[in-house]
Amino acid sequence: MNAQPTASHFVNGAYVEDDAGDVIECIYPATGEVIATLHEATPAIIEQAISSTKAAQVTWRAMTGTERGRILRRAADIMRERNHDLSVLETKDTGKPLQETLVADATSGADALEYFGGLAGAITGEHIPLGGDFVYTVREPLGLCVGIGAWNYPTQIACWKGAPALACGNAMVFKPSETTPLSALKVAEILHEAGLPAGLYNVIQGRGAVGAALIADARVDKVSLTGSVPTGRKVYAAAADGMKHVTMELGGKSPLIIFDDANLEDAVSGAILGNFYSSGQVCSNGTRVFVQSGIKEAFLSRLTERLTDVKMGDPFDETVNFGPLVSEAQMNIVLGYLDKGASEGARLVIGGKRADRDGFFIEPTVFADVTDDMTIAREEIFGPVMSVLNFETEEEVMARANATEFGLAAGVFTQDLARAHRVVTGFEAGTCYINTYNLAPVEAPFGGSKMSGVGRENSKEAINHYSQVKSVYVGMGPVEAPF
Ligand code: NAD
Repeated sequence: MNAQPTASHFVNGAYVEDDAGDVIECIYPATGEVIATLHEATPAIIEQAISSTKAAQVTWRAMTGTERGRILRRAADIMRERNHDLSVLETKDTGKPLQETLVADATSGADALEYFGGLAGAITGEHIPLGGDFVYTVREPLGLCVGIGAWNYPTQIACWKGAPALACGNAMVFKPSETTPLSALKVAEILHEAGLPAGLYNVIQGRGAVGAALIADARVDKVSLTGSVPTGRKVYAAAADGMKHVTMELGGKSPLIIFDDANLEDAVSGAILGNFYSSGQVCSNGTRVFVQSGIKEAFLSRLTERLTDVKMGDPFDETVNFGPLVSEAQMNIVLGYLDKGASEGARLVIGGKRADRDGFFIEPTVFADVTDDMTIAREEIFGPVMSVLNFETEEEVMARANATEFGLAAGVFTQDLARAHRVVTGFEAGTCYINTYNLAPVEAPFGGSKMSGVGRENSKEAINHYSQVKSVYVGMGPVEAPF
């Protein structure tokens, strides 16, 4: 296997190139160096990507679920065998430390392939008795699904969408983010090496316009987007025009509530995981950390101590645990929020500036005494910036935690079992945590409510979003008619 993909697109079982497409430069965020030059999909490539899925899907949906699942599970095994090479590629593409990519990217992609591979044979309908007559239901594939990815977890997103789509008997055309175009090509390559028939999982490159062209095509039955709320609005509207199915995995500004009785060390760990892993570029991050007044000073002082263990540097040094932002553009967005935090009166506890080194590094930053109206407490930053807000009572904090248009995730740290469940019941969010934060195993549904999304990924829930029910009424007696 070549370590890097050998062309821009993977269509109908092979790498293809069309130099007429606009150039996409793939930049290694730790140095700014160009590591690959790709081309956006031209209309000819888009046509090839869509038309090749159609014929392939007819055969694929007719196979048994067990046969389909076997191919996905084989792909999972290959991904695990190649984890090191795939992690190196992911680190180059995203800048995330190898220490992270080795355990969180291809491995979680493999988990999805294995899980949905196992489930494929168990996708069934039901029997509904009606006296003599009966109805049976059939869970059928949707047809052609389009997946559109964000740049923070390129391999994982390609698999979280591809695995359930294929398990249900669909075909997929996947468009990765233009910022991190490489890894999804390797996913396609591995799926085909595992025996996936050509045309069932095509990967094409491009910016938003290529995504929009895919959604506009009448042959497409579903679109699953991972991206920001503004993009989600556009994609959802375009899909509505063709009455297509959608899954929307969008942004967040999630609350993490720490009560006085919380285990301090665990609460600090949760806040670190929920703000600084992947340099803060995680959609479900708990970026509004509400800390009750009795534990606030202890929390801030322990957090500051723990942040001295941050090791920023060369992402390929396996002792490094904190990498750059994915791009210069994203770094500049985050720097803008750092200025806003300071100018709107938040107290800077640690960090607060670009690191003095090559690449797009920003120091892990904590603002304290943040108030609900400040920009850094309202808008998704998608960078290593934690806002700590003070609170006194459960009732007060619940109202403030939910006072946002987002509803992706929410977490609570407390030793009081009844309170933990009461708080989670009150959260207006799709993915909640008690005494931990940001874990996303494939067995559990993942997704948001309110502006953060529609539908769920992972778990048995995802099957409902990549299939539809046909109901069949079977008459067993004479047919009665009024005349
Ligand atoms: P983005 O919205 O800028 O882009 C996402 C994808 O949509 C890209 O592939 C882009 O090319 C494509 N796109 C843009 N305009 C389009 C259009 N009009 N039609 C079709 N496709 C279009 O997001 P990003 O900057 O790549 O990623 C960061 C965002 O993603 C954050 O808001 C983050 O919270 C969110 N995110 C959500 C999840 C989740 O599971 N909920 C996971 C990761 C990231």
